[in-house]
Amino acid sequence: MRRYACLKVLGIFAIVFFGYESADAWGAAGHRIVGDIAWQHLTPTARKEVSRLLGTDTNYPTLADACVWADDVRRDSSYRWANRLHYLNIPESESAYAADRDCKPKTNCPSDAKCPPRDCVVSAINYYLEVLKNPESTTQDKCIALKFVGHFVGDIHQPLHAGYAHDRGGNDVRVEFNHNVTNLHKVWDSMMIREMGGWTGIAASLNLELKATTTTERLKAWSSDLDPANWAVESNALVPQLYKNIPKSGQIGEEYQNEHTPIIRAQLQKAGIRLAGVLNRTLGV
Ligand SMILES: [Zn+2]
Repeated sequence: MRRYACLKVLGIFAIVFFGYESADAWGAAGHRIVGDIAWQHLTPTARKEVSRLLGTDTNYPTLADACVWADDVRRDSSYRWANRLHYLNIPESESAYAADRDCKPKTNCPSDAKCPPRDCVVSAINYYLEVLKNPESTTQDKCIALKFVGHFVGDIHQPLHAGYAHDRGGNDVRVEFNHNVTNLHKVWDSMMIREMGGWTGIAASLNLELKATTTTERLKAWSSDLDPANWAVESNALVPQLYKNIPKSGQIGEEYQNEHTPIIRAQLQKAGIRLAGVLNRTLGV
């Protein structure tokens, strides 16, 4: 018991002082924003089912909270098998998604876990939607599936989670963002969003924009495409824009932020609308 407590303290120390491998996509703020936008667009029936499922997990009471869970459990070694489910890679020379090349069959599924057949974010979203839909699934399995879907729909809209393997989705691209040494992946995960303000303010602003009549057509187009493979291709097509205008020195800041904020805002909105779309289709009838 004492030994366990000690290990736990050491673990917390390690997280606080050394951080943990970041492939979180959007960071907590981004995922919360996606969950909040989705909630605004759920049908009453889907909302009721989401509330019922989340009612079984007091730590994640709202959809916005639930969308962060899959990153929280990355610190738990019993969820290590899920690490590859947060992203995929498409070769720089290709523009389409090919499951055999980009999403290999899953080989490390523990016997007590429910794993998708393939090891990437596209397979994960499709599989956990099936778990949610299946009347044979237990409430506990459905609650986990909901939290995974909520998170992974966010991840797949972060362009660098559908990036290139050769630089590990921008993790190996060293940059200085506003004079802080970091990598391009982290800039897109959380650093630019942090510059945009608190997550509730960003979510409110994006929701307001979505309510405007001028966005109705865009909104319809986004929610009519509910195939995660297409979302991955769309994200991947944005990736070259993320590498553009990075000087040799790697120093980026306000100018880079201003140029790319519209992409972040649109991707967060798309993710929220599409998360609502798949949940309405699965739970809303
Ligand atoms: Zn993630």
